[in-house]
Amino acid sequence: MMGRCIYCQEKAGWFKGVCQECKGMLQAIQNLGGQFSFRSLLDALMKACPSNSKIERFLDSDIQGQGSIRDIVTARMTNQLAHTMGQPTDMTAKKVKWIREAEAQNPTPNDLPGPVNPYRR
Ligand SMILES: [Zn+2]
Repeated sequence: MMGRCIYCQEKAGWFKGVCQECKGMLQAIQNLGGQFSFRSLLDALMKACPSNSKIERFLDSDIQGQGSIRDIVTARMTNQLAHTMGQPTDMTAKKVKWIREAEAQNPTPNDLPGPVNPYRR
């Protein structure tokens, strides 16, 4: 039985949980260290993986339910920015995931079609 990659769900090979490209992308993130922009992250990922849709799946994968790789990266960059501005935070991937999901469920009123109802909560 062929194993499937836990990140992109594509065939990973015999007894493997992670395919070659996703392994390369994980390594690329490690190589970036603590300081990087989203742009440099994408550049590094595109060098490791030729498929944009696969990079998207990799970023959105949530292996342990603790937040996707995108959430982990967002948390890391949020903390860096806050630190730079002298207001350290403890943003975690789980918090980013929670905020993202809360926003998806409760869009701001401006995003909703139709007339404004002042009584709507
Ligand atoms: Zn993969």
